[in-house]
Amino acid sequence: MSCLFCKIVAGEIPAKRVHEDEQLCAFEDIDPQAPLHVLIIPKRHISTLNDLYQSDDALVGQLVRRAALIAKERGYDGAGYRTVLNCNSDGGQTVFHIHLHLLAGRRLGWPPG
Ligand code: 5GP
Ligand code: ZN
Repeated sequence: MSCLFCKIVAGEIPAKRVHEDEQLCAFEDIDPQAPLHVLIIPKRHISTLNDLYQSDDALVGQLVRRAALIAKERGYDGAGYRTVLNCNSDGGQTVFHIHLHLLAGRRLGWPPG
């Protein structure tokens, strides 16, 4: 298994986990871009957004809802936060196991660079 995030799911590479359930794992980004920067990932390996099927709709829903729950737990629901899914090189994807970025705790610029 060569995927970095699959190794984090398996516990072979340490990460600061903030949530885990049957389908998902969430952990702090190693290079945080905001006071809160968490990555929420499916435990199952899916390389990019292009590899999602209709049968994954519930999983994607869980991913997004978990981001909102973590933001709320940390008290950022009112001030706001950003969720980002990067896809392939122009989208800035560097790890090819889909992950939803949750960023909060500062005013985030728009449009992104
Ligand atoms: P991408 O650029 O693919 O959307 O995001 C990949 C994210 O994974 C980056 O924000 C990067 O800092 C984070 N990352 C890369 N390697 C590791 C690691 O070993 N552990 C953790 N916790 N995050 C990582
Ligand atoms: Zn993987």
